[in-house]
Amino acid sequence: MSFKLAVEFIALKDVRRSAKGKKAVAAPHTLVVFAGADLAMGEATTKLLGDCIETVTRAAQAAGFKGKASSALELWAPVGIDADRLLVLGCAPKQGPDTPAPADHVSIGGYLMGKLGSKGTADVVFDLPQSPEALAEAAADLTLGMRMRAYRFDLYKTKKNDDADSNGALSARVALSDFAGARLAVKARESIAEGVNIARDLVNEPPNVLYPEEFAKRAKALEKLGVVVEILDVKAMQKLGMNALLGVGQGSAHESRMVVMHWNGLKGAKAGKGAKAGSARPIAFIGKGVTFDTGGISIKPAGGMEDMKGDMAGAACVVGLMHALAARKAQVNVIGAIGLVENMPDGKAQRPGDIVTTMSGQTVEVINTDAEGRLVLADVLWRIQSVYDPQFMINLATLTGAILVALGTDHAGLFSNDDELAQRISAAGNATGEKVWRMPLGPAYDKMLDSKFADMKNIGGRHAGSITAAQFLQRFVNKKPWAHLDIAGTGMASPASDINQTWGSGWGVRLLDRLVADHYEK
Ligand SMILES: [Zn+2]
Repeated sequence: MSFKLAVEFIALKDVRRSAKGKKAVAAPHTLVVFAGADLAMGEATTKLLGDCIETVTRAAQAAGFKGKASSALELWAPVGIDADRLLVLGCAPKQGPDTPAPADHVSIGGYLMGKLGSKGTADVVFDLPQSPEALAEAAADLTLGMRMRAYRFDLYKTKKNDDADSNGALSARVALSDFAGARLAVKARESIAEGVNIARDLVNEPPNVLYPEEFAKRAKALEKLGVVVEILDVKAMQKLGMNALLGVGQGSAHESRMVVMHWNGLKGAKAGKGAKAGSARPIAFIGKGVTFDTGGISIKPAGGMEDMKGDMAGAACVVGLMHALAARKAQVNVIGAIGLVENMPDGKAQRPGDIVTTMSGQTVEVINTDAEGRLVLADVLWRIQSVYDPQFMINLATLTGAILVALGTDHAGLFSNDDELAQRISAAGNATGEKVWRMPLGPAYDKMLDSKFADMKNIGGRHAGSITAAQFLQRFVNKKPWAHLDIAGTGMASPASDINQTWGSGWGVRLLDRLVADHYEK
């Protein structure tokens, strides 16, 4: 983040209508209030605005402002108020045919941040016309949205000075009746926002900087939070027989790595024997980390190949998630595992026609070296289920272009062998706005992977590409409860939104954090 954002919570009575003594132009003071449909406002807001309400009403009529979410009315130097700017933010729930969500305070916060810009001070009067049931949580959500929107990735821009967005500092105070509650509720949100932004950084980094070894180093930074981080190098993986993963990376000048992160949030009695012993079994998240995917010998066309730096968005999400869980001290034992490789064409690269023996003992005929993510995940899934016996495994991968054909960028593809797990993931997705859509699995699809020469081939043919990829993974989960999220459409290059303006969205961190919080803690 290239400008400083400070957010705190204050009592309603401490709101400033003005910031006297400040240089107005250099650092404007903005007063933010909320209005719903027909300009409905909360009691405290009405009182605060006083006579100024008339000006606001006239301005709203003139501007056609109706109080809809993701709209705002902006008045500079308003008469009757000493603030440099009065921002009236719409908060009427969006109405639509599909899932009319309750007011989404995360998105409202993101929209607000977009309006505030990167300089000055702001007092946000969080007094909504219809007070949310959990007011403190809603205010904390608002600041989560602000933090996500404030993210910038401009590490490699050397001319920062002529960019008004850079080098600024915005100090925002959110005022509400239950400010003490908000101060408590915001702690977990801060951890989540950090996790999302870490995932975004990893996805946005260029592939000459972020190769497997460097990625592993970044994951190692989680040790500061008490996460135990284990890094397996090529030798260690050779010993374990992880030939599917190693085959993908063998054409690269950069060595492959596997990283296993352990967060043991359940300690002592809770993790011991007895009635609760079951809950001490870890849950596991697994990410595909192809730090750059040329396709290998089955090389991709040149157009857009630069986007293949994002082929590690699954692994980025797992690292971001582990950060969020550890930073908020989640009461759960979690394993995060990522397979890190670079898929390059080279004299040593894997060929189409090669047959590799995976760690599970099953053999795979590599028909297309660009279907490499599943080869990486096959060995990581097998390793994690066999060593740690997790309650479930969820893997994330930018696995197939076919999922974009099916679902576009609005939903990730969900594949699962467990209805309860799938249902929980869907619910967490709806709650966070990181939506998933369940796709089918079945023996007819599985059969498409049969190979003339080995136990299976690594692609299934022209049709049902996302499904056959999932079928491939399922052969390595050993009947453990498992879900696969194909995030090729959501993990990178997704459209800008109120809470995301960057290329690497950090998709999945909030969804999976929510899943853990709702079902697996304590
Ligand atoms: Zn590929």
